[in-house]
Amino acid sequence: MAFEEMWRDLAPIGRSATSGGYVRQPWTSAESELRSWFAEECAARGLALETDGIGNQVAWWRPEGTSGPGVLTGSHLDSVVDGGAYDGPLGVVSALAAIDRLRSRGFQPDRPVGVGVFVEEEGSRFGRACLGSRLVTGATTWSEARELTDRDGVHLGDAVSAAGLDPDAGLVSLDDVGCFVELHVEQGRDLVGRDAAVGVASGIWPHGRWRFEFAGEANHAGTTRMEDRHDPMLTYAMTALAANKQARLAEQRATFGRVEVVPNGTNAVPSLVTAWLDARADTDGALTDLVGAVARQAHDRAERDGTTLSVTAESVSGSVAFDAALASRLAGPARPGGGWPVIATQAGHDAGILSAAGVPTAMLFVRNPTGVSHSPAETASTDDCLAGVEALAEVLAELAGAGPGASA
Ligand SMILES: [Zn+2]
Repeated sequence: MAFEEMWRDLAPIGRSATSGGYVRQPWTSAESELRSWFAEECAARGLALETDGIGNQVAWWRPEGTSGPGVLTGSHLDSVVDGGAYDGPLGVVSALAAIDRLRSRGFQPDRPVGVGVFVEEEGSRFGRACLGSRLVTGATTWSEARELTDRDGVHLGDAVSAAGLDPDAGLVSLDDVGCFVELHVEQGRDLVGRDAAVGVASGIWPHGRWRFEFAGEANHAGTTRMEDRHDPMLTYAMTALAANKQARLAEQRATFGRVEVVPNGTNAVPSLVTAWLDARADTDGALTDLVGAVARQAHDRAERDGTTLSVTAESVSGSVAFDAALASRLAGPARPGGGWPVIATQAGHDAGILSAAGVPTAMLFVRNPTGVSHSPAETASTDDCLAGVEALAEVLAELAGAGPGASA
């Protein structure tokens, strides 16, 4: 099935009729449907599919004559709440389409070629980004992960079981993976500025999520004098402004995008405000400094407000430098058209987790005219998507093919 047909098939799954965005949370019916779709596409191609106990999927094209560690490509199919169509699925659909192209050209790989789909990449339900690939690589253990809860208090272990999976059935193994290449829609406008449909990633900024809990004293919004209050909302408000200012000054990124208020009443001074800071910086040290500066200012303000603050790191990912030799080979000036630009990204990806686990890893980006991501406005033209498929097919042929330089 051609790229465009696969894309059309996926379009209605998990789509919100009101916003046009996608709600493809892990271990929900939308995600089960996506998993079935992938299994059908793999079956139609005769790929050997393995689905593990938590829903990660890896399908291998292993024609006779292939041996040695395989070349894995792929991405994820889940989305953030009200996300775009491209973040994740573009890499999966392009992977299948790239294999189709190689086959139609009669390409015979020397090494197996696999397509992987990792669950809960966005961390939109259980708060842990790249959870599927973290579990597979051992960066997170199942005994720890199964106790994570979603916003409704559902434990991860129960959510996985409710989705018809058996979490005790084990995880897919990456032992046979020699290298990983993830194609992804760009989440910025770097390629627009460079007038290029496709780019190669140099690395991923270190990033993480921190939970800030501001505790005060609930009281009546009318009868409590302003000077008698211990209002954690004020501490939070100043902290959100401080985070923004601090990140601007250092040319980094800091965002409070999620807040929960107790009791969340219009006529009540709140007793508790919980807010999540998403912070990213170009070096590990800069990220530590950034979060430290925000926390320090928050603590100072809490003292003035008579509130208290606790800060908990929920997930932190160190900087990732993708395999430099692999990136320069992919971007190489010898490539027809003069090579692809090499760009950094501020977004986390499964590719970063695999890279940290020691798998030589590369990423390809496809131009996104709006630069917007994690929103229904995320987009890519069909021409650029097809250029991405062709780029991925070239890369897979190079990595899985015969001859010098074929190994990663
Ligand atoms: Zn993604």
